[in-house]
Amino acid sequence: MASTTDYKIDFTTFYNVINNELKSTPTTRTAINPSTLAPLPPVPVSTKSDVDAAVSAAKAAFPSWRDTPVDERSALIDTFADAIRANFMEFASLLALEGKPPMAAQFEVDFAIKHLKGTAQLRLEEEVVEDTEEKLVKVRYTPLGVGVGIVPFNYPVFLGLGKLGPAVLAGNAFIWKPSPYTPNTALKLVELAAKIFPPGVVQALSGEEDLGPWLTAHPDIRKISFTGSTPTGKKVMAACASTLKRVTLELGGNDAAIVCEDVDLAQVVPKVALGAFNNAGQLCVDIKRIFVHEKIYDQFLAGMVEAVKTFKFGGSDDTEGAFFPPVQNAMQFEKVKEMFAQIKKEGWKPAIGGEVEAEAGEKKGYYFKPTIIDNPPEESRIVQEEPFGPILPVLKWNGDEDEVVRMANNTDMGLGASVWSSDLERAERIAKRLEAGSLWINTHQDLHANVPFGGFKQSGMGHDWGIIGLKGWCNTQSLLLRRSGGII
Ligand code: NAD
Repeated sequence: MASTTDYKIDFTTFYNVINNELKSTPTTRTAINPSTLAPLPPVPVSTKSDVDAAVSAAKAAFPSWRDTPVDERSALIDTFADAIRANFMEFASLLALEGKPPMAAQFEVDFAIKHLKGTAQLRLEEEVVEDTEEKLVKVRYTPLGVGVGIVPFNYPVFLGLGKLGPAVLAGNAFIWKPSPYTPNTALKLVELAAKIFPPGVVQALSGEEDLGPWLTAHPDIRKISFTGSTPTGKKVMAACASTLKRVTLELGGNDAAIVCEDVDLAQVVPKVALGAFNNAGQLCVDIKRIFVHEKIYDQFLAGMVEAVKTFKFGGSDDTEGAFFPPVQNAMQFEKVKEMFAQIKKEGWKPAIGGEVEAEAGEKKGYYFKPTIIDNPPEESRIVQEEPFGPILPVLKWNGDEDEVVRMANNTDMGLGASVWSSDLERAERIAKRLEAGSLWINTHQDLHANVPFGGFKQSGMGHDWGIIGLKGWCNTQSLLLRRSGGII
């Protein structure tokens, strides 16, 4: 076993990783640190021939990786997780430059390492459907071949590793395509992976917006696991249809939290507030609509305002314990600004915030004052759309469970949802009627490597993680062994 010093890498120059070699490209691009607006070190802009090279290396690697015993594949994933840990501060500092205060970046890298280790524990067993004198019938799961993970900007390490782990554990060769807004950490992670996995098993390609479509169109790629916005997810699915690639789509969310009147406010308010403003609203399973029982609405809202006042926002150079980042990029900044502009236009009532901080000149980066909108109309944009920024509606419900379930389900999205109550039976009764892939009671965003994650309705299709997630990286194959009798 190699020592952790074998896993030290240089964090200054950035390459594609193809067949375990570091490859430059004729042109490069730079992402921007959203807290300082300074450019990050340049990264490759892949060409079509880079895509072909990576796909043929993955194809060549696949048969022997598929035939490698799963315990060996798992051990390499575990070693990879340890190797990331050996470079923990370097990865966290680089991730901070991509848009988070150091404390949040460290949280993400730590969470991702644990998730990867959890994934390595999973096993997809053959299932015996029938074992009789006449026949043995089994269902088995075989890897698909070359798979691609297309990753968004908001949790670039966790979401990328969250695809890599299950893909390679199941026996696939995996290509990681990071977001053009956050390519640096991903490239370094795969550079490290190249020291551990056989050539062609784990690769990375960075590029411009044409890279994703090249991958979804490529005839030798068998699966795209996509995480990103719902409109892009629809394009990915349409593009994959031409080659009948398997697709997993992890898309946008508009998570509801239903708060009952019997909660312990001192305990629940800070949790709900954190669940709503985590990563400044840029998390698919951030709480994006809160429905509070009218009996406690005023107290709850006042508590939320106090909780939000304690939240420290900061960037990569923060030294004061900030946990909340700016909005990650200029495109998202414009989208969120547009939502903030509706406050005046629509006459929404901010309980706190309401301003675009960057415009007030207080901070240079893409900062907003965290904002809570007090009881806006149910059909308003802030309730119906995913802002993906630090602006949150809080609404009232009147104690009628049917009505609050209707309100929570009144959206095209269906990613996560939570119910908060000290009556667990009641909470479960309400939760089970919600149209969302992940239901939580007295918690939210509680994600685990052994729990499947995926959306209802336009929040996605298929799952990452858990045994169901592993099955998504496989063909389902039946095997019937005839012992006697039979139809031919
Ligand atoms: P996005 O859809 O703009 O981009 C996601 C990725 O897709 C990027 O890597 C991008 O380069 C790539 N891409 C863009 N166009 C493509 C195309 N035509 N073909 C193939 N790839 C293409 O998403 P984003 O703005 O980076 O991320 C924010 C969104 O992601 C939010 O809606 C959020 O809710 C969602 N999200 C969902 C989950 C989940 O697990 N369900 C997790 C995180 C984020």
